[in-house]
Amino acid sequence: MGKKIAVIGMGQGGMCAAISLAKAGYDVKVFEKAERGQVSYDWEDDIRADIFGLCDLDMPPEDVYRQKRKWLFVSPDGKYSLPVPPLPPMEEISVYRRGLSEYFASELEKAGGEALFQTPVTSLIVEDDAVKGIRTFEGEERFDLVIDASGMNSPFRAQLPSKFLVQKAPDGNGVLFGYRAFFDRAAGENTREEDIECTMHVKHLGEAGISWCNLVEENLVDVLIGRVGSLSDEQIADAISDLRAQNPVLGERLIRAHKVQICLRAAAGVFVADGYVAVGDSAFMTMPLMGSGIESSMKAGKLLADRIKEIDDFSAASLWEFEKRYMKEIGAGFAFIDVLKRWALDLDPKKIDWVFGGGLIEKSDLALVSTDTSGEKPKIPAKSILKKICLLLGKPSLTCGALGCLIKAAKAKKIAAKIPGKYDLKKIAKWAKRYEKALLATGKKQTK
Ligand SMILES: Cc1cc2nc3c(=O)[nH]c(=O)nc-3n(C[C@H](O)[C@H](O)[C@H](O)COP(=O)(O)OP(=O)(O)OC[C@H]3O[C@@H](n4cnc5c(N)ncnc54)[C@H](O)[C@@H]3O)c2cc1C
Repeated sequence: MGKKIAVIGMGQGGMCAAISLAKAGYDVKVFEKAERGQVSYDWEDDIRADIFGLCDLDMPPEDVYRQKRKWLFVSPDGKYSLPVPPLPPMEEISVYRRGLSEYFASELEKAGGEALFQTPVTSLIVEDDAVKGIRTFEGEERFDLVIDASGMNSPFRAQLPSKFLVQKAPDGNGVLFGYRAFFDRAAGENTREEDIECTMHVKHLGEAGISWCNLVEENLVDVLIGRVGSLSDEQIADAISDLRAQNPVLGERLIRAHKVQICLRAAAGVFVADGYVAVGDSAFMTMPLMGSGIESSMKAGKLLADRIKEIDDFSAASLWEFEKRYMKEIGAGFAFIDVLKRWALDLDPKKIDWVFGGGLIEKSDLALVSTDTSGEKPKIPAKSILKKICLLLGKPSLTCGALGCLIKAAKAKKIAAKIPGKYDLKKIAKWAKRYEKALLATGKKQTK
């Protein structure tokens, strides 16, 4: 009989690890609090399609995903907009979240693992300073390893012995409070730019966050209002009324609405303990600018399964190698982005309006961020570079602020990548403190 592994929650990272381990002969059980068919969100989100192949998985059934729609970015004052250049067909896809969860569950079952629905885990069994299993309403069950894939608000991190240094909650600026709602389409109306379905308002109404208004079906409009730190009902009402003024497609009839929280920060400093490891949002593994966490948690799930297959004991010291790989391959880059995000959140919205409308970024420049590798990358002509330098010299406070922020971001990345090589709690405590301090080096300080 293989080693016994419990996964709490059907987060994508936990499921990638669970499927891979079940295929390798481990005795894997996933505990999910939602009922079958209701796991995750009743909407679509965007990811790259190649993530499945990278995680040794087949593509999900075709009715679970479709081509990602086109996006337009709008400045805070609503006056300027820039279209995001399209990638080759099906490079990025919109995936139906509940369909994705069902695909993971059936892959797990095919591999010999067990998926238990409507079975919330109530607590960890912790004995002799190590995690020994889990408790549900049905009783206790012992496991060799518990993988926590229960999301950003996992209560399990706080149940670990404090000596493991696992962060209990994200900082205040690390959470985007969201309102996601679906409205009807206003009769005879179209999106802000007729052939672009999705419109993202950056620092909408000058507030710290984003709003979007997307035509996702013939007569269905998907709205997200996301604000860092908090989001009041009044802010939601103001944002919707402004979205309606700027996006004629947004109808009056509310079909359904949900309040959600999105993790918006780089990884926790420590996410392993004896008999325990967190993956996905429970370890804050999202891309800090947009809160996208499906791909990064799937990649982390694969790294975790690879490590588990190499070891016999599931001590924090053995699992540390997984954390190190995650930080070096993904986490350090996200630390860089997190610092930029915290700076941008505090930036005067007028400066962002200027970046959009002042000629610094032109439509042709956006082709540079395309990941299309099929042709030669376009180059910025020397004349255009000179123009940009002159424009930046005319805005010294923005230029100096951006340079200062880039230096701090590079420092955070360097610290993240210099994670201690060996599991030495004294060294880890020192490093984790420096890492968190580097992340919080820009922007308003908030603690939860
Ligand atoms: C509005 C919104 C838009 C987003 N858009 C994107 C996007 O476009 N692209 C992208 O990549 N990411 C996006 N994300 C982020 C993405 O959802 C997460 O980063 C990603 O799903 C990883 O989270 P997770 O699976 O680890 O945790 P979660 O999604 O929180 O899943 C945790 C699971 O654990 C279960 N669970 C919780 N507690 C228990 C318990 N005690 N016992 C048993 N089960 C439990 C939950 O029911 C749930 O199924 C978005 C998130 C939101 C909210």
